Amino acid sequence: MQFFNVLMARAIPFVPRAIIQKLSRRYIAGATLGEAVARVKQLNAQGFCVTLDVLGEAVCTPHQAEQTALDYMQVLEAIRANQLDASISIKPTSLGLLFDRQQCERLAERIVEAAEGCNNAVCIDMEDVHCTTKEIDLFTRLRTDHDNVGLALQAYLKRTYEDVQLLTRKPATLRICKGIYVEERSHLVNGAWHDRSAINTHFLAHVRHCFSAGSFVAVATHDGVLIEHVIALAQELGIGTRQFEFQMLLGVCEPLRDKVSSMGFSVRIYVPFGSDWYGYSTRRLNENPAIAGHLARALVGL
Ligand SMILES: Cc1cc2nc3c(=O)[nH]c(=O)nc-3n(C[C@H](O)[C@H](O)[C@H](O)COP(=O)(O)OP(=O)(O)OC[C@H]3O[C@@H](n4cnc5c(N)ncnc54)[C@H](O)[C@@H]3O)c2cc1C
Repeated sequence: MQFFNVLMARAIPFVPRAIIQKLSRRYIAGATLGEAVARVKQLNAQGFCVTLDVLGEAVCTPHQAEQTALDYMQVLEAIRANQLDASISIKPTSLGLLFDRQQCERLAERIVEAAEGCNNAVCIDMEDVHCTTKEIDLFTRLRTDHDNVGLALQAYLKRTYEDVQLLTRKPATLRICKGIYVEERSHLVNGAWHDRSAINTHFLAHVRHCFSAGSFVAVATHDGVLIEHVIALAQELGIGTRQFEFQMLLGVCEPLRDKVSSMGFSVRIYVPFGSDWYGYSTRRLNENPAIAGHLARALVGL
């Protein structure tokens, strides 16, 4: 079955967009802010907090980058107006990181300030390895003047050991995740290119370091074993539930999400919405262990 999954995952670029869209509906709140707000209300009512993500990455013009920033301003206003328990996540490439770093920083700062104005927070997603240094620099500059900004780090990268050390010299808000982009093996910790569970010891080492350094950790994973280890680690180090939260993606491993929440831990759901759904959707489908069955059924119209 794993062979078919790998085969199907490789075939994704050739699958008609309409089928990808249909299969990825569970991972995305909808195309509009109104649909996103409705989904956040449901999740809040179920006891989850949320981070909202406007879908889109790697824009090509200053105008598109400006538009992304405006979209986020609207999201912040909707969160305020609807009294939602939600923060936001941004992708720097959608603010022009790859063609104008100064503009990207200006726009990111505008978003962070707007969030500050409504007592809200912003997390910078970590994108592929060409962006890592630039996104860490962006975070470092922003947090000089703002406390309400966090950064995601990827445990599959070797360099993360050094990055975590540097970033936690002063307590930070960090999201630790395994990492999703297809990277060259030379960047990855041993075994990560073929076995996701090989990342776990590195993930735990980073969480341990953050806990010891007094940083807030968002533990972003659907790996049940890893979650158990993080809980045990927090107990071992006497870390209270205010110093960490679990984060999971909309539509992924909902029974696990419910279980962790029912154990009394804070769980934040990453809720993407918007019309630029393709890149995000294909990454989610690639990770779905049941992808072969889903795709095969969709392709024969079942
Ligand atoms: C809140 C949040 C924010 C994230 N932010 C970033 C980021 O900024 N940068 C980045 O590179 N990555 C990010 N990721 C993605 C992350 O790096 C992983 O790729 C993703 O979470 C899957 O890894 P895992 O830790 O769940 O472990 P895995 O070992 O990959 O998966 C554990 C189990 O989860 C289940 N599962 C995982 N994904 C799916 C899916 N799509 N459909 C169905 N089942 C699934 C499978 O059963 C699998 O066995 C984020 C993830 C989360 C939860």
